[in-house]
Amino acid sequence: MRLIFLGAPGSGKGTLGEMVSRATGFPRVSTGDLLRKAVREGTPTGRKAEAVMKAGGLVDDAIVTELVRDRISAPDCLGGYILDGYPRTVAQARAVDAIDTGRPELAIDLTVGEESIVERLCGRRVCPACGAVFHVNRKPPQAAGVCDACGGELIQRSDDAPDTVRERLRVYREATAPLEDYYRAKGTYRAIDGEGYAEDVYARIAALMTKEGRPL
Ligand code: AMP
Repeated sequence: MRLIFLGAPGSGKGTLGEMVSRATGFPRVSTGDLLRKAVREGTPTGRKAEAVMKAGGLVDDAIVTELVRDRISAPDCLGGYILDGYPRTVAQARAVDAIDTGRPELAIDLTVGEESIVERLCGRRVCPACGAVFHVNRKPPQAAGVCDACGGELIQRSDDAPDTVRERLRVYREATAPLEDYYRAKGTYRAIDGEGYAEDVYARIAALMTKEGRPL
């Protein structure tokens, strides 16, 4: 099974993808996380991607697809995997179909209004050490600026600054929203209301999966 989390930046793909990953045992493959790791490690891919990511643009299809190809060929993805933040263009959607043809699939689109998205992204704080995600109002850490999970120092992602958020939303509307038509045509598109708390959205996903004959 391949579960693809579609949806705008800040729609909850990472949080919900992680919850579904825990329930299914399918690894969550996040191209954003893979790219940030490459940037941190200063690899050739990281060096090519860094400036584009800072500006809120999209990294080259070929670069991102190579990362995904490597990751989903690993043995732990054999039984299934969750894609978070990939594909983001129709070319990437075609690429994953070509890399892993015929795998049963659902493309779950988390729909969230633009106001909620800006509020979520601008208040998001992340722990670079362990990847935990917080929100200054919705999910504050116990001690301000400190990760509950590992005690690391929380930061704001540089691309969560208001100007970059606006650019990421523009890029989403232009390049990524057309994926809805691509997956509708394949018959694998499912929209889920992404508003509200993660637990509520998770319950909607669980209901969908039960309906699809793949209970979580
Ligand atoms: P994310 O963590 O998914 O919000 O991704 C952070 C940034 O990484 C994006 O704003 C893009 O610059 C880059 N990125 C992540 N996934 C992709 C992708 N599939 N295609 C192109 N760029 C990507």
